[in-house]
Amino acid sequence: MNDVLPDAVGVWQFLERSAREVFGTYGFAEIRTPVLEKTELFCRSIGETTDIVEKEMYTFADKSGNSMTLRPEGTAPVMRSIIQNRLAAQDPVAKLFYIGPMFRYERPQKGRYRQFYQIGVEAIGVEDPKIDAQILMMLHHFFNRIGINAVSLEINSLGCPACRPDYRRQLIQYLEQRLEPLCSECQRRYQTNPLRVLDCKVESCRAATTDAPAVVEHLCGECDQHFSQVRHYLDLLKVPYTVNVRMVRGLDYYVRTTFELVTDQLGSQNAVAAGGRYDGLIESLGGPALPGIGFAIGLERLVLMLDQDVVSTAAPELFIAALGDAAVEQAFILMSQLQVQGVRADMDFQGKSLKAQMRRADKLGAVHTLIIGDDELRSGQAQLKKMADGSQTSVRLDALLDLLT
Ligand code: ATP
Ligand code: MG
Repeated sequence: MNDVLPDAVGVWQFLERSAREVFGTYGFAEIRTPVLEKTELFCRSIGETTDIVEKEMYTFADKSGNSMTLRPEGTAPVMRSIIQNRLAAQDPVAKLFYIGPMFRYERPQKGRYRQFYQIGVEAIGVEDPKIDAQILMMLHHFFNRIGINAVSLEINSLGCPACRPDYRRQLIQYLEQRLEPLCSECQRRYQTNPLRVLDCKVESCRAATTDAPAVVEHLCGECDQHFSQVRHYLDLLKVPYTVNVRMVRGLDYYVRTTFELVTDQLGSQNAVAAGGRYDGLIESLGGPALPGIGFAIGLERLVLMLDQDVVSTAAPELFIAALGDAAVEQAFILMSQLQVQGVRADMDFQGKSLKAQMRRADKLGAVHTLIIGDDELRSGQAQLKKMADGSQTSVRLDALLDLLT
């Protein structure tokens, strides 16, 4: 679990700001849910045989003996909230996004942490493939907005409860013939979660399953039609993508459209965002039968990919250097007045020499520095130094506010 230190927070704020701006344009509103939920919510939605539920959850009994879990992902909590607050009764179509920390007990490494942040999006109530394309367009737009181009979109369809069980049976049969080369993990899970074998990273598993049946070749008529419409609209919107028939995602609730945004810049942690359709999820959690689709972006991986030099927004516009008790007091009042007016102003609080105050102004990245001493107080006039080029202008102290706002 990481601290985000003040030096690094600029890039985080930039990402969050960009998400609010882009998603807002598409009519998505922010929702904030608690970090803690009943364990049952995740077992019922993500699935008992998934990596997350089997081994990654932070679960504990609270003082009343209820089993609680720190949320490992954001979709199930948002669905819980929609059901509990009866949001669909007012409007069956909901477009929501969230920003916040998630928790998974994983082996920490570059790009993989135990507390990590996700920005996620959920569109509820629309089955039309136009919304799938819209969601992917928005993801594409967000990455353009933040200036990350070294990513590619991979899409697939996982079918639905009508066509997947049959495909699943065929895949199990196929895997049964090739158990020996599979890793122990896949040998264990090929019957409970056979699709997961397809995206196992172990080389021998990949090699043994190159000609495995693909789910897209076993879709029912409706899923096939839906998937080809999604591709059609992506083409119309000029969103670049490739179809990856081996991409299956690790959560049980996905149906039909699934996707990942991958990069080759982060080593083995190559997914920066992922998502898909979860049409049966809300109903299975006791809510109305509404379809849904969404994605989550991993923020740490974006921070790793971005230029870290995003300017900190805390740099003062004015640093006031003062010499002598009366001037320090006057500087303190002036600074406070400027702050109230929205000017980022700062000064020294440690009784430092003028030279040390100037060094501090420099270190903080101040745009201007004002120097005041006894003479300046008497004349009401002081030197305003522009730090970028060292040029100085004489200003009236009572006109400073107008000058800076
Ligand atoms: P991965 O295959 O990398 O384990 P996942 O399939 O578990 O990813 P999702 O649950 O779909 O990931 O989460 C969406 C995104 O959240 C991922 O693409 C990734 O960018 C990010 N993410 C997931 N787990 C972590 C983690 N432990 N640390 C940092 N980021 C993560
Ligand atoms: Mg994972």
